[in-house]
Amino acid sequence: MKALEERILKEGKVLPGGVLKVGSFLNQQIDIDFMMQMGEEAARLYNDVKITKVLTIETSGIAVAACVAAKLHAPVVFAKKNKSSNVGNEVYSTEIHSYTHGNDYTAVISKEYLNAGDLCLITDDFLANGCAVEGLIRLCEQAGAKVVGVVAAVEKGFQGGGDALREKGVRVESLAIVDEMTDDGKITFRK
Ligand code: 5GP
Repeated sequence: MKALEERILKEGKVLPGGVLKVGSFLNQQIDIDFMMQMGEEAARLYNDVKITKVLTIETSGIAVAACVAAKLHAPVVFAKKNKSSNVGNEVYSTEIHSYTHGNDYTAVISKEYLNAGDLCLITDDFLANGCAVEGLIRLCEQAGAKVVGVVAAVEKGFQGGGDALREKGVRVESLAIVDEMTDDGKITFRK
């Protein structure tokens, strides 16, 4: 998505450790008009399939998922990190490694909100090593739900998570794929 690439070039900041900061529009300050355009593009990419749930993980996936879901007219279901008292005991649960925090956490989804027969589109703000998406796929497997595909706002292609999923036969569409980021801030997108 050209407009997303341009926005990343204009406002993105490359941080140490291969982290791209896009807090000015995507995951701290949220430019909702722009995010809705991203949602529209995601819905266009998946307009050939039926989707009953848009799945993500709290926190930073929720805004992207909401904008995608608004265009698909499907509910968002987000996995909670670490079980909180309002989730209940009946949950699907899996361990996920966090790229940005460098630790492992438990992601849970209440069994009420993910069912056999659901057709799920997994979405997140970033797809890096693929741990978050793979965790969501495991939660779908536990529920007997089908993963229709994945849509990431930004895929960091140089970390390989997206391509590994594609090799496994998972449909992955990313709105922008960063293939290279240098320490001095140069960002190169996949053609
Ligand atoms: P993965 O599990 O694919 O390695 O990483 C994806 C998760 O880590 C996303 O949920 C995202 O929040 C976070 N993440 C990974 N790389 C970046 C990055 O460069 N910038 C930001 N802001 N978040 C990232």
